[in-house]
Amino acid sequence: MSETGPPLALSIVVPVYNEEGNVEPLHGELTQVARQLGRPYELVFVNDGSRDGTLARLMALRARDESLRIVELDGNFGEAAALSAGFAHARGALVVTLDGDGQNDPADIPRLLARLGPELDVVSGRRSERQEAFLSRVLPSRIANWLIARATGVPVHDTGCGLKVYRREVVAGAQLPRGMNRFLPAVLGVRPTRVAEEWVNDRRRGSGRSHYGLSRAFAVLRDLPALPVLVRLPRRGLAFGRALGAAPVALVGGLLLAILAGLGWPAGLVPALLAWFATLLAAAVGAAIAHDVGRWARAREHGVFRVRRTL
Ligand code: UDP
Ligand code: MG
Repeated sequence: MSETGPPLALSIVVPVYNEEGNVEPLHGELTQVARQLGRPYELVFVNDGSRDGTLARLMALRARDESLRIVELDGNFGEAAALSAGFAHARGALVVTLDGDGQNDPADIPRLLARLGPELDVVSGRRSERQEAFLSRVLPSRIANWLIARATGVPVHDTGCGLKVYRREVVAGAQLPRGMNRFLPAVLGVRPTRVAEEWVNDRRRGSGRSHYGLSRAFAVLRDLPALPVLVRLPRRGLAFGRALGAAPVALVGGLLLAILAGLGWPAGLVPALLAWFATLLAAAVGAAIAHDVGRWARAREHGVFRVRRTL
């Protein structure tokens, strides 16, 4: 973490992995918006182990822009890790994040910033008129968002939108395990009443293609049972999470045994099968929670990214 230089009002953090066709136009748009805001700012591009010309393009931009900082990771650690690295290096009082592929519109940034009054910690973008296929992208994302909002208690409609504004205290020190970027800002432990949403423009990807397919829907389902625990971890600590991770298995298992005993098991095929199914489900949920609490603990302990150099 760099502590030198004058205090900055704003850090704009952009994770990039193989975005060689997108970094230049995005840098241009961000610079224009940031200058119009008229506050001291920095652009923090986190190169997440790109194998294409992304880094070279960033270096060329850096040569003529002092506001641009490049955090070069020591490999491809994933979007959640790249964001965590950006948070660790951001020096601004406010931290904006957005995707590096041009899908988010920098022109929305001033409106999100204006919305972030003293009563709020986060303003999250909500994409209107999504530019992606309805059945394979938009519908799964709607269902996922509904479930995520219920599981976390943070009523955000579009948690997958990369464009968000945070107070720096909220993101400082975050070490997000793989995939947890999908549950921002809830997994940072923010209070639901301190989060607001703002409609934002959704554009087509500049060039290249998305890094994710439908498999991410399964990843979301797997992480879902752990969310009520994970959102409380930042404030309550890991011991609390471990206890809760074991609780569903113990509770439901014990309950089932009691019911089975009451039924005089084996009383018949159907109740026995139902009981087994319920036990398996409870075990799967418990295991999913324990798995994610474990990932969270390892992320806290070891960090989720390695920096090769900062420029
Ligand atoms: N990204 C990254 N590391 C990865 C995968 C993605 O830094 O391993 C970046 C990517 O370059 C982009 C952002 O994360 O700036 C969102 O990725 P993408 O546009 O592929 O996701 P989608 O918009 O399809 O959800
Ligand atoms: Mg994208």
